Amino acid sequence: MTDHTDIIAIDGPAGAGKSTTAKRVAAALGYAFLDTGAMYRAATWWAMEQGVDLDDPAAVAAATRALPLRMEEHDGRARVFVGDRDVTEAIRSPEVTRCIFKLDQNPDVRAHLVALQRAFGARQPTVAEGRDIGTVVFPQAKCKVYLDASLDERARRRAAEMAGKGKTVSPDALRAEIHERDEKSKTRAVSPLRRAEDAVLIDTTSMTQDEVVAAIVELARRAQ
Ligand code: C5P
Repeated sequence: MTDHTDIIAIDGPAGAGKSTTAKRVAAALGYAFLDTGAMYRAATWWAMEQGVDLDDPAAVAAATRALPLRMEEHDGRARVFVGDRDVTEAIRSPEVTRCIFKLDQNPDVRAHLVALQRAFGARQPTVAEGRDIGTVVFPQAKCKVYLDASLDERARRRAAEMAGKGKTVSPDALRAEIHERDEKSKTRAVSPLRRAEDAVLIDTTSMTQDEVVAAIVELARRAQ
């Protein structure tokens, strides 16, 4: 068992580089990595796959409670399974991304996933990334970071990431989509995205990945 002194919380808007950064910080410190966005994505994918009416909050909450989710590392890469299906790629589809807001505002869905996240963090030292890690999931985390970058830079990074996977998306469309997700995350009634008072703000707009990782590892070491 660990306590919250072994948790590093990384929050921030879409495209701020949370996943890549958190993974590398976890590797540098020998901590586990927890991608909470992948959990909301997997719950959404599962509800869609099951044909659940996404506008029925009770049905969506029941489906989430029955979600057979496993997050594992294979050959050093984080994989997400629902039952026996590897959904690592499927949960990142535009259809899933578009529908997540139907679940992420549901208090019962959040309560269930937050309980799983806390159980994960209680088992091992963890770098957790998401939208409400420092504010709700692990408010006593020893080290909290809020990663941000300009909207243009976040859209540019997403476009480059997608181009790397052979997908071409118009930067304007990406920018609009990210902006819309920002607004939804920040204005929702339940667990809105906001910087915890004790979180260190890192604006990564003109920083390299290496610099961001080094800054967080340093903060984590100082917090020990
Ligand atoms: O980080 P990622 O883009 O994979 O997150 C997908 C979505 O899941 C976010 O846009 C947000 O709606 C939701 N989410 C959340 N709380 C978290 C992590 C993600 O509401 N802790």
